[in-house]
Amino acid sequence: MVRFLQSAGLDRTGPARPLDGRVAIVTGSTSGIGLAVADTLAGQGAAIVLNGLCDAGEAERLCRALTDRHRTPVRYDDADLSRAGAVTDLVDRSVRAFGPVEILVNNAGIQHVGPIEDFPPEQWDAILAINLSAVFHATRRVLPDMRRRGWGRIINVASAHGLIGSPFKSAYVAAKHGVVGLTKVTALETAEAGITCNAVCPGYVLTPLVEQQVRAQAAAHGISEDEVVRTVLLAEQPTKRFATVEEVAETIAFLCGPAAASITGAAISIDGGWTAH
Ligand code: NAD
Repeated sequence: MVRFLQSAGLDRTGPARPLDGRVAIVTGSTSGIGLAVADTLAGQGAAIVLNGLCDAGEAERLCRALTDRHRTPVRYDDADLSRAGAVTDLVDRSVRAFGPVEILVNNAGIQHVGPIEDFPPEQWDAILAINLSAVFHATRRVLPDMRRRGWGRIINVASAHGLIGSPFKSAYVAAKHGVVGLTKVTALETAEAGITCNAVCPGYVLTPLVEQQVRAQAAAHGISEDEVVRTVLLAEQPTKRFATVEEVAETIAFLCGPAAASITGAAISIDGGWTAH
């Protein structure tokens, strides 16, 4: 990695940062929570593989912004995580570019809202593929290198909906409960290998994924977007405010650090008290 940094003109001379020399993949990091996670881990010195669906110009702009701000290598990979083969290709390309992956943040996710009777089966398949199966495929691919190195951090971005249900979110709730279950199994299988695996479970965070739900609900119920936020979304969240992307990102960065070495198999709520009900 040091040689790579030097050849990229990125060898740092400042004080050591906690994740200097570590390689991190953050899936779904071209917007929202994933982008904040990438920014935070890059700020701690990790080399970052950005991933998500965006055009080439936007991807280049994001890579340049993160590299300039944090003086760490950043590359973009356009893998479409709805396909198993694309997930393993993402890991393989990352290893070829930066070396073995030591931090995997499984964050990519999509949503569709509707009653089960009207829920399009293709939306069910897509949500299960991206929100759940991609976590399995990526984890499976990074584990051998993590075991060999005796160190690894896997953080799965689940949701409050990994712990409780809500009507009209059948696929999302099923997938996120699956992510929490997979997190526990991964933690148990890797507990003696210096690897931890945890889920973070945010409540509502104002990102493009939620903005799209606010617009859809306002149209469906004939009420304003402000009213949807107040009476539907934040009605669930006792703090009556959105969690922020930075709060989620800092929790994930903490889970990558030495103080979190004994935290594994946990599902950590970041939901303003929602699941304390
Ligand atoms: P977002 O829409 O801002 O970001 C989603 C990211 O996933 C984007 O980068 C998008 O390009 C990427 N993505 C979507 N489909 C993809 C595919 N097929 N292949 C690769 N990348 C793909 O959403 P967000 O709110 O930041 O959500 C991030 C994660 O956080 C998701 O797993 C979501 O379920 C979870 N989450 C969000 C909230 C919230 O309130 N925003 C709450 C709990 C959990």
